[in-house]
Amino acid sequence: MPGFRTEPLIVSAVSGLLPEGERERRVALTSFQADTSRAQVPKREVVCYECGQVSEVPSAALSANCLHCHAHLNMANVEIRPGSRRLTVRTLGDVTVAAGTVLSNLSVVCRNMEVNGRVSGTFRCTGRLNFNVSTRVEGSISAGKLVVDKGAEVELVVGAVAEEADLYGQLKGRLQCKGLLHVYRGGGYEGICKAADVMVDPGGRYDEQSRF
Ligand SMILES: [Zn+2]
Repeated sequence: MPGFRTEPLIVSAVSGLLPEGERERRVALTSFQADTSRAQVPKREVVCYECGQVSEVPSAALSANCLHCHAHLNMANVEIRPGSRRLTVRTLGDVTVAAGTVLSNLSVVCRNMEVNGRVSGTFRCTGRLNFNVSTRVEGSISAGKLVVDKGAEVELVVGAVAEEADLYGQLKGRLQCKGLLHVYRGGGYEGICKAADVMVDPGGRYDEQSRF
């Protein structure tokens, strides 16, 4: 009768044991390394459009999550075309409204916005908000720089807050400008204005109805 043997049978393929090299590679991948001599991924700072706090994200990323409120942050550029039914845009990238687009109740939060179509709504741009066509905006506007191009007439129902404003065309409505409001030749402003500084070029029109 053969003797009873108690040695465990070990088969490397099913035991979970990894070859030495592979195990070291995986440990290295999941370990924190404070080696600053390694090349760093280029990063950029973004301001979360939900909580307003700054997060550092890889420059090349098309989306990320806010480190503070964990909101999903879209970084892609968005184009709104004629026939579009999209009414809400949230991105850290730029938004372009194509010529021929007609939309009301549009809600946009973005970096730069280029308006070539007749859109109305609420626009919040950390960068430049550029109106190239005439339109009437029912919602509020905030922008780093508000620009009304030559030939465009923009009417603000609620009003706008901007760091600075350049008017080559006409702007009508309440405006709060933290810096310079510059009315260029052929441009015009009419409304209730609170600006740190106002500059009106010859050939420009500035008609302040009353103070805040
Ligand atoms: Zn956030």
